[in-house]
Amino acid sequence: MSARRFDRQVRFAGLGSAGQARLEAGSALIVGCGALGGALAQSLVRSGVGRVRVVDRDIVEESNLPRQVLFEPAHLGRPKVEAALETLARIGGPTRVEGRALHVDTDTLPELARDVELVLDGTDNLSTRYLINDYAVERGIPWVYGGVVGGAGLVLPVLPGVGACLRCIFPEPAPPGALPTCDTAGVLQPAVAAIAALQAACALRLLATPREERAKLPLRLVELDVWNLESHSLSAARDPECPCCGKREFPWLDAPAGAGAVSLCGRNTVQVRPQLAARPDLAEIARRLDGLVEELALHGGLLVFRSEGVRFTVFPDGRALLEGTSEIDRARALYDRVLGS
Ligand SMILES: [Zn+2]
Repeated sequence: MSARRFDRQVRFAGLGSAGQARLEAGSALIVGCGALGGALAQSLVRSGVGRVRVVDRDIVEESNLPRQVLFEPAHLGRPKVEAALETLARIGGPTRVEGRALHVDTDTLPELARDVELVLDGTDNLSTRYLINDYAVERGIPWVYGGVVGGAGLVLPVLPGVGACLRCIFPEPAPPGALPTCDTAGVLQPAVAAIAALQAACALRLLATPREERAKLPLRLVELDVWNLESHSLSAARDPECPCCGKREFPWLDAPAGAGAVSLCGRNTVQVRPQLAARPDLAEIARRLDGLVEELALHGGLLVFRSEGVRFTVFPDGRALLEGTSEIDRARALYDRVLGS
């Protein structure tokens, strides 16, 4: 079907009509439909991928509009997934798009990804990426990592059993607050667009390539800085000692779901506990957040501050109390955005 609609991409020799047919029979789960995830969803739908499932736990905010391509002012305050489905429906084409407003954890990921060929990373936090990596390696399905901060980002296509997985390259996630996040260091729309484009191209090539030929695909870690016009890439070889794809340990998959955050009854407070992360350096986090949050103070071994109307108290083990909300998903999203777990 749709021969005229897809004429230009079918003329591209790398794809051809056989590749297009495989795209139209293909399926992907996109985790997160904000900046990267929204651009990925748009790209896959415009390219005619058969089935696309998007999942996101957040609502649309004004500060999303500069770079989250599926949203416009009329969507403010609505669940991102709902707004995304509206925009994607307007693009048309053969794709069946499904949306789920959910937090992705060890309970929900297996169900969300059970019937897709590929998982795409549009998340904003490391714990979800390490969970996706565990799941994909354990199940042997490909996924594409992407991350952007400031004017630069990274992409890594992961083909379990063939190339490096996330933990071959970054064996442990950085402790909460150790890395800049889009909330602390900002982010530029062209950087998001560039990284999403690389991820989408990896996705299309994976889906368009028959399974038995995928071992020949280029698997590299690519770093792209759109502000300074710099790019680096390195071949991503498997580490035989990798705890995940080498020793087949899957701690993120085995962690109890829901243990990461609990709403404290009657207190309008949620406790968030980062899973399997190293102890954070609170003094370093305080330096990084200085000027970006209100009422910042480090005393008695605790870091306290206020952001978006929520008061954070961060303990030396990375656990935090977020006062001013009783919504677990909002608390987790805020924790990830500000502290970058
Ligand atoms: Zn590995």
